[in-house]
Amino acid sequence: MTPIEQLQSALSTLGLKAVEARLEGLLEQAAKKEPSYAEFLEETLSCEVEARRTRYLRARLQLAHLPFLKTCAQFDFGFQPSIEEKQIRELLSLRFVHEASNVVFLGPPGVGKTHLSVALAEAAIQAGFGAYFITAHDMVADLGRAYREGRLDRRLRVYIAPKVLVIDEMGYLPLDDLGATIFFQLVSARYERGSIILTSNKSYGDWGSIFGDPIIATAILDRLLHHSTTINIRGESYRLKERRRAGLLPRSDQQGQETILPTPALSATVTSGSRRKAGA
Ligand code: ADP
Ligand code: MG
Repeated sequence: MTPIEQLQSALSTLGLKAVEARLEGLLEQAAKKEPSYAEFLEETLSCEVEARRTRYLRARLQLAHLPFLKTCAQFDFGFQPSIEEKQIRELLSLRFVHEASNVVFLGPPGVGKTHLSVALAEAAIQAGFGAYFITAHDMVADLGRAYREGRLDRRLRVYIAPKVLVIDEMGYLPLDDLGATIFFQLVSARYERGSIILTSNKSYGDWGSIFGDPIIATAILDRLLHHSTTINIRGESYRLKERRRAGLLPRSDQQGQETILPTPALSATVTSGSRRKAGA
C-alpha cells in the first residue's frame, strides 16, 4: 500500500468521511501553501467538523418535520404592524427555549403564525436543540390511537422529548373528551421542561369551546401560559395580499376584514400573575 492508500484506509476506519473525500485537495493545497503542522492539522480536522455539523443539522431538520423552511429574515414586518419586531428578535435569542417557556401565536388565517413558528423552530435547531412540528389535530389523533392500543406513555415521549414542540392550528377542530385529556397530559408533561410554540385562530376566551369543557381548558391554559409570550396578530392575510397583487381578487382596504378574534388587540408578554388578563 502506498502512504496515501494507508491514509485513506485509516480515515475510512475512523469514519472521517469528509477528510477522506477531500484528501487529495487538502494535500495539494498544503503542498502549495506550506502551512505549519498545526495549521494543516487544524484545517484538516475542521473540514470534518464542519461536515458533521451540516450532517447533524440536516438530520435534526428532517426529524423536525417542518412543513416548509422560512426564517424571520423572510418575514415582512412592514406588512404586519401588529407584531413588534423587537419581540420576535427577543424570541430569536432563544431565551424562551433555555427557560422552557412557551410562545403562543394567535390570529386569523394567513397572518404568518405558522411562518414565525417554523422560523423559531429552525433557529432552535440551528442552535443545537431538538424540535418537532405537528398540527394539533394530527398529534391528538396519533396519541388517541396510541391510547386505544395501550401505548400512550411510550408515544407521548415523541412529543415530550424535543426541547421545542410546535403545535400548529389549535382550535380549528374541537377536541373530544379523550383528546382534551391527552392534550392536558402533554402540556403538563412539558410544563417547565420544554417549550411549546402554539398557533391558534381562537382567542383564549374561546378555548372552552375547543375542549368542550371550561375546567380542562382553564387547567391547560394555566400551565401553558404560566411562563409564556403571547403574540396576537391582527390584520390581513398575506396570502390574500399576494393574490390581490396578482389581480385575482379585487382591491380592498377593509382592514381586519377577516379578523375573527373577538378580543381586543393584545400583544404582550404574559407572565405569571398577569395571565388572567389574557382571557379577558
Ligand atoms: P397562518 O399560519 O397565520 O395561517 P402562514 O404563516 O401560513 O399563516 O402564512 C401564509 C403564507 O404567507 C406563508 O407562505 C407565509 O410565509 C406568508 N406570510 C405571511 N405573513 C407574512 C409576512 N408578514 N411576510 C412574509 N411572508 C408572510
Ligand atoms: Mg398556519
